[in-house]
Amino acid sequence: MPEQNFRSILTGSFSTPCGDNPTVAMIEAAYRHAGIDARYINCDVSAENLADAVRGARAMEWVGFNCSLPHKVAVIAHLDDLAEAARIIGAVNCVTIRDGRLVGNNTDGKGFLASLQDVVDPKGKRVFMLGAGGAARAIAVELGLAGVAHLDVVNRDPAKAETIAALVRDNTDSDATAHPWDGAARIPEGTDIVINATSVGLGDAQAMPEVDLDTLTKGQVVADVIPNPPMTRFLRAARERGCTPLDGLGMLVNQGVIGVELWLGKTMDADVMKKTLRDIFAASDA
Ligand code: NDP
Repeated sequence: MPEQNFRSILTGSFSTPCGDNPTVAMIEAAYRHAGIDARYINCDVSAENLADAVRGARAMEWVGFNCSLPHKVAVIAHLDDLAEAARIIGAVNCVTIRDGRLVGNNTDGKGFLASLQDVVDPKGKRVFMLGAGGAARAIAVELGLAGVAHLDVVNRDPAKAETIAALVRDNTDSDATAHPWDGAARIPEGTDIVINATSVGLGDAQAMPEVDLDTLTKGQVVADVIPNPPMTRFLRAARERGCTPLDGLGMLVNQGVIGVELWLGKTMDADVMKKTLRDIFAASDA
């Protein structure tokens, strides 16, 4: 009789509130599909309990966990080391635990980059990005590390755009400039990749960032970080103008793939994960 093992590999997530985060469904579907006996436990952890939760994960020999709001910065104080991008970004959303050592990574920008690389190599390209929040910061740093030639960062609050542009200039070989977002944003000539990294469009298929759509040009890659609905109004408008649209669902799925690679050293089936999320989003829209 084959030897049986009733001990599952443990992974999960610490955030609050956590009830609307579908990552658990996406990752456990991938584990099942791969025939791996692993669990992903979605935990509601308040700020004052973060230290205990991290100690618990280490004590129970979890192989790693995600952390989402509000823990992405606070968790750093509980880690032994940081990967390069996480150090530059100053935020961690994925922790690996190996031999009791906790290493922080940031998969927000890596997930975006993996999705982007399916349609274009950003090395040497000119990029125009709307937004300067947490997602924009992570994407900007990864684009810099991937060798973009120039990054324009546009935000209503220009100080936040300048912080990101300076991060890119100071920590990578790429150039970056910040711009205030006054009226309809105009895409500069020569731009190869346009990114909406604002929250405009989340849960609202008719919302669109204020952009002069006539400045989009055929052949540009236009990406959105919004995972739901995946085909945002901005992406629909870009597709009508002959641009290549890239939705935020791929970014979310790739974050899951990269996280499991960091924890288990195994690559999960992205299609299984994407289908799980699509079904969940379709059910929530019904
Ligand atoms: P933040 O709150 O940190 O940043 C929000 C950004 O959106 C800011 O730059 C803000 O500008 C801008 N913004 C909000 N409303 C408007 C508006 N009406 N007009 C112009 N700009 C606006 O959020 P995050 O960066 O964490 O997240 C942004 C989006 O990215 C969310 O919708 C989230 O769902 C998505 N996301 C997707 C991921 C994926 O895997 N697909 C992963 C992570 C995030 P200002 O600074 O001027 O207020």
